[in-house]
Amino acid sequence: MIRTRFAPSPTGFLHVGGLRTALYNYLFAQHSNGKFLLRIEDTDQKRRVEGAEESLLNTLKLVGLDYDEGPYKEGPHAPYIQSQRTDIYRKYAQELIEKEVAYPCFCTTERLEEMRNKQQELKQAPMYDRACLKLTKEEIEAKKAANEPFVIRQKIPRGEKLRLNDLIRGIVVFETSTLDDQVLMKSDNFPTYHLANVVDDHLMEISHVIRGEEWLPSTPKHIMLYKALGWEPPQFAHIPLLLNKDKSKLSKRQGDVSVESYLEKGYLVPALINFIALLGWHPGKGEEQEIFTMEELVNKFDLAQVHKAGAIFDTDKLDWFNFQWGKKLHFKELEKIAKEIDPDVKIEENQRKEPVHTFSNADNERMFSQKRGEILLAKCEKHLKPQWTEKPETKAVLLKAIVTIEEKILKNPSEAQAHLECFFNPKDAAKALILNEKMKVDEAVTATALSEGLKALKDFDGWDSINKLQTLLLNLAKELNLKNGQLLWPLRVALSGEEFSPGTFEMLWALGKDESLKRINRSLQKTPREA
Ligand code: GLU
Repeated sequence: MIRTRFAPSPTGFLHVGGLRTALYNYLFAQHSNGKFLLRIEDTDQKRRVEGAEESLLNTLKLVGLDYDEGPYKEGPHAPYIQSQRTDIYRKYAQELIEKEVAYPCFCTTERLEEMRNKQQELKQAPMYDRACLKLTKEEIEAKKAANEPFVIRQKIPRGEKLRLNDLIRGIVVFETSTLDDQVLMKSDNFPTYHLANVVDDHLMEISHVIRGEEWLPSTPKHIMLYKALGWEPPQFAHIPLLLNKDKSKLSKRQGDVSVESYLEKGYLVPALINFIALLGWHPGKGEEQEIFTMEELVNKFDLAQVHKAGAIFDTDKLDWFNFQWGKKLHFKELEKIAKEIDPDVKIEENQRKEPVHTFSNADNERMFSQKRGEILLAKCEKHLKPQWTEKPETKAVLLKAIVTIEEKILKNPSEAQAHLECFFNPKDAAKALILNEKMKVDEAVTATALSEGLKALKDFDGWDSINKLQTLLLNLAKELNLKNGQLLWPLRVALSGEEFSPGTFEMLWALGKDESLKRINRSLQKTPREA
């Protein structure tokens, strides 16, 4: 049975790197119908931060990473909070001393500091000099009797080579002489991470330890502890570091790399999960899919496809995922509404793979468009001028105008105001722009386009439908023997006053007949037909 665990220390907010570790453990366990555990590693009492544990549990819940065993859940290996398991660690520390693979050390902080300074002067790697390993049984007893504080250290054999077959990094060989005699129990009688982690991973029957690469140097010490206690070590998979765009390490201290801060900024949970999953993992060559639901991730996840190289945390890419997911969820919501309004609605994709809704009658279409406008308005209302939403005349235009800039709102709601300005406060279109001088369009052609367009629109009664407006104008272009652009460009500029704006049919539909004709007329004055 595959059993994985996420074992955070409650020292602050959950970091995006921590979320990735949790996610990979979750996906790997789920993929093979195994179990995913949560264990709180809070034995370093000095680093404990008030409230960190609650916020961690809360964030995991928000992002949908539910654990099978862990704090506040029943489980065969409870408790899952290390500070509640200290008796267990003490027992194993004692066993390690008896097996002579650990020893008490009475060195004071001052002595250790002095030793380190000397090593630094001699340009040696800082390492415990094993002074206390020479103590006799009697000396140890005497010191204990005198209540001298002590720690328990791991006795690392010298001159051996230790091979680890890491599931991501392959074979890694460690020289034991480079390893320090790690403290296992501190003088406050609390274990260090190293002892507690090994004991718990064994007792909790963890089959795969999936964790950040920063723990790789500690792994040989862990393996020696497993062996000393006569236990089979789990399999290890060390996942690559997260890097900034400039390849520097993504730091824990940077406040805004907490998962909470991304959620607060409005990033969608599935977008964040999708983005984080692909930091260092990809379902393999030839696979072009980038948008994955949690279910798809569970189906596809495999440790063999986790890369060795550091993964770049690119926030532009995160924005892209957020946009794609925003669109996906928005169109799902619209689909539901469309079917409620009209069970016979036809939904097909257009060239841009966006759904087009075709209703069985104009009333349903109108109702749907109104709802769509309201949904979009809710997404950007706080960024809009209040008078647009307050006055009924402008509100009616707004609910349509907003539909014409749907994609822009989904991308960045705070820019909605700028894109909508042309509906309410149009610039007076410059003649050069109406004529599209850059494209060297003939003035007479433009004059014809505007006047014929105006004529056709005056007599038209299909203003409630973008499609009908489109059919009308495309037929007109054909009749006049104009290219579509020769007719649509000047009309659009006349309506918006802008080089870039929503399209001609959309603008006509949103502005309505009276306002549209007024604007076209005004532009026509600037490009009078030659006599
Ligand atoms: N408590 C460690 C941490 O905070 C866990 C490391 C491990 O997974 O072994 O990252």
